[in-house]
Amino acid sequence: MDSTEPRVAVAAGPSEGAAEHFDVLVVGAGISGIAAAYHLTTQCPGTRFLVLERQDGFGGTWRTHRYPGIRSDSDLYTFGYRFKPWTGPPIATAEEILRYMGAVIDENGLAPRIRYGHAITGAAWSSETARWTVEAVHTDTGERHRFTTSFLWMCQGYYRHEQGYTPEWPGMADFRGRIVHPQTWPDDLDLADRRVVVIGSGATAATLVPAIAGRCRHVTMLQRSPTFFRSGRNAIPIADELRQLQVDPAWIHEIVRRRILFEQAHFTQRCMSEPDRVRDELLAVARDQLGPGCDVDRHFTPTYRPWRQRIAFLPDGDLFRAIREGTASVVTDAIDRFEADGIRTRSGQLLAADIVVTATGFELAAMGDIPFAVDGRPLDFADTVTYRGMMFTGVPNLAWVFGYFRASWTLRADLVGDFVCRLLHHMKAKGVRWVEPALRPEDRDMPILPWTDPEDFNPGYLLRGVDRLPRRGDKPEWQHTQDYWTEKDVFPAIDLDDPVFVYR
Ligand SMILES: Cc1cc2nc3c(=O)[nH]c(=O)nc-3n(C[C@H](O)[C@H](O)[C@H](O)COP(=O)(O)OP(=O)(O)OC[C@H]3O[C@@H](n4cnc5c(N)ncnc54)[C@H](O)[C@@H]3O)c2cc1C
Repeated sequence: MDSTEPRVAVAAGPSEGAAEHFDVLVVGAGISGIAAAYHLTTQCPGTRFLVLERQDGFGGTWRTHRYPGIRSDSDLYTFGYRFKPWTGPPIATAEEILRYMGAVIDENGLAPRIRYGHAITGAAWSSETARWTVEAVHTDTGERHRFTTSFLWMCQGYYRHEQGYTPEWPGMADFRGRIVHPQTWPDDLDLADRRVVVIGSGATAATLVPAIAGRCRHVTMLQRSPTFFRSGRNAIPIADELRQLQVDPAWIHEIVRRRILFEQAHFTQRCMSEPDRVRDELLAVARDQLGPGCDVDRHFTPTYRPWRQRIAFLPDGDLFRAIREGTASVVTDAIDRFEADGIRTRSGQLLAADIVVTATGFELAAMGDIPFAVDGRPLDFADTVTYRGMMFTGVPNLAWVFGYFRASWTLRADLVGDFVCRLLHHMKAKGVRWVEPALRPEDRDMPILPWTDPEDFNPGYLLRGVDRLPRRGDKPEWQHTQDYWTEKDVFPAIDLDDPVFVYR
């Protein structure tokens, strides 16, 4: 990790020109990649690093998704960074999140460290040089670039940005209207006087339906099965009070974060210990806000325990309000087929539609769909075991940021940021060029399991793609525990000289 190392040229390959060398290469300029850049700048000053991003700007998820109403599901006090106070209402639009990220980039001089329009197409580790060689293609010119790096910091998220997941239903080709996926929302989509059917009832549908209700003739949310929702004001009274008292925004950020995290821990714990009571409470709010005209048992009572899937938050109960007011409605039924004029459900009902929106989720992308190799052998991450959901057995000098499902993603981006920076310092102090996690003798008989436990968390994109993800063991150090409240204390205390870390 010596920042005085000269740039090296590598043997001629598929790329044009010499390779540029960086101590650290960060893949992706979403919320995680910008966190990585910030932590490297502040905790490892002097490190030569570069962020490579396929899109033509920063933001990741918040740049890709442009459907009406696009907003966060988490509060920005915890989805925002630990180090950059959030000063607005807790639930934020994509535009507000992009502005916030832009401020982090400006305030920390990160812009020169990011190269946009670079799609990474390959990463190969050489034990001889203790470096990764990373191939990238410029998305505009098709020009190929080659980089070498001592450490690869994967912040590429978990799903394919180019297109979402749309199941195949019979008759789709016969439909005379337009079928769109929220992930690739067309700029020219005119909703005026159109009948819209939104398939799905996850966070995306819950955002989209109230956003277009009233702008189209009618919107129907068509779900196979119900989902839990939490509804509440898009405001945090204590934050507003402290602001009125002109308390420093950094203090407010910290106080409100602690309060929200405390409440979330309590809620998560209750979902595990008294799921029936939590279910009753959630349904009581739904009943109250939906009014007597809605069959809550049929449309809003899931069969699973609260928190087995992410619970979408409805700011100011907007989805419930749209349904109560009649600009939106909900149908719980399976799709039989598409017809020329809409969707025929299994029960025989025709949902007339001019536009069908398939809010049916993501395509999981394991490691950004980048082909990896270690010493000339293709690397399949499904053959590795994860160290705390961020490093992988047999994969040197690489870390991945995979956030939380039940808490804000960014909480983990900051924790992993601290860990990687500490690891880079440790390697320098030890005078080593290489680190990888390895199973210890006491881990050898441990059962090797899929990345997530479907009993614990089972969204469709994970169930569809879990075979492509790394494996986990049955001990916390060999899992992504999804437990921020434990990891916030465990991560800073990780012993970097534990035999789990093999240095060379
Ligand atoms: C609509 C939506 C709303 C969400 N809301 C929340 C929320 O409220 N709270 C929450 O905690 N989580 C939420 N999530 C999950 C969300 O994805 C994460 O919280 C977070 O934004 C992920 O950030 P990231 O930087 O890790 O990945 P991403 O945002 O996915 O960014 C990854 C970046 O890497 C780039 N990239 C990928 N592969 C390559 C490659 N091969 N070469 C070059 N660049 C590459 C991509 O172009 C992208 O810009 C939401 C997800 C979606 C889709």
